[in-house]
Amino acid sequence: MLTQKALLAAARRPGLRRVVTGTPVTRRVVERFVAGESLPEAIEVVQALSADGLAVTLDHLGEDVTDRSEARRTRDAYLAALESLAPLGLSRAAEVSVKLSAFGQALPVGGHDLALELVRPVVEAATALGTTVTLDMEDSRTVDATLAVLAELRREHPGTGAVLQAMLHRTEDDARALAVPGSRVRLVKGAYQEPASVAYQEKADVDAAYGRCLETLVRGPGYPMAGTHDPRFVQQKLDLVAETGRSSDSYEFQMLYGIRPDEQTRLAAEGHTVRAYVPYGADWYGYFMRRLAERPANLQFFLRSLATK
Ligand code: FAD
Repeated sequence: MLTQKALLAAARRPGLRRVVTGTPVTRRVVERFVAGESLPEAIEVVQALSADGLAVTLDHLGEDVTDRSEARRTRDAYLAALESLAPLGLSRAAEVSVKLSAFGQALPVGGHDLALELVRPVVEAATALGTTVTLDMEDSRTVDATLAVLAELRREHPGTGAVLQAMLHRTEDDARALAVPGSRVRLVKGAYQEPASVAYQEKADVDAAYGRCLETLVRGPGYPMAGTHDPRFVQQKLDLVAETGRSSDSYEFQMLYGIRPDEQTRLAAEGHTVRAYVPYGADWYGYFMRRLAERPANLQFFLRSLATK
């Protein structure tokens, strides 16, 4: 628990970022979770996953952008990604996930408007290709702002997806509010360090909340996307889908690239839509540190690689 908190705190520390990203060993370990630093590398991974029967959501790594030109570069990176996906003819099977903080959301003046202005053309380009955009959820201070952008985008692009984090006390209400026709919601446990005033601190409480929110979303009329590697919730979702008689095109499973790949292809082979979340780009530090924090085995794998160097 202490290690997890330290890693999550480190994920936001620029000084450590320079140390960690500078070592060649780290880069090799990172490859397990990140599809590459460049778009062509990511596209190769997308093609391989697609050949295995998986859908994908492509994430151009980056977050906490503090100036406007960097935010514009994020927009351009996503437009380039969509342009590269187009000739593959994957349409709905390949979408993109965005973090609004990479579109300038956190700028103290005009951040909300800038993020909306820059993400809109990405959503328009995705719609033109017959696919969608999902807004990742970042720390709890951003939830209201992200849901406000979602509401604006959904007016013209109702397929725009949201992410809800079961660890937050507010999420059961948000899940009920978003369980409406056409609403795409990825339910995750939550990857950020949050205070007890807004979030459950015990894993058992987060898990219990996840189960309740999953039930709300799968029983509702929306399009539920379970973002988890947890076998208990994969099974709960399979049971709920069977009980409610949902057709196989009315829900999906989502897992991160490099985590439980055999389970991803197994579920896909059984006829379920499974979407792999595929991050790429040079700015992988925050994403990588959150993966280390999530699971002692990931951290051990990293430490072992350092020791055998
Ligand atoms: P955990 O509690 O980490 O693990 C539960 C069980 O799952 C483990 O006991 C084990 O049985 C199995 N398991 C987990 N990892 C492994 C592994 N490496 N190998 C084998 N078994 C394993 N978080 C956000 O805050 N915002 C987001 O926008 C966001 N988007 C996400 C998108 C996707 C597609 C996914 C899958 C996750 C996303 N997350 C996001 C991260 C999420 O919040 C969790 O931190 C992360 O998924 C770990 O939680 P878990 O549900 O997998 O279960």
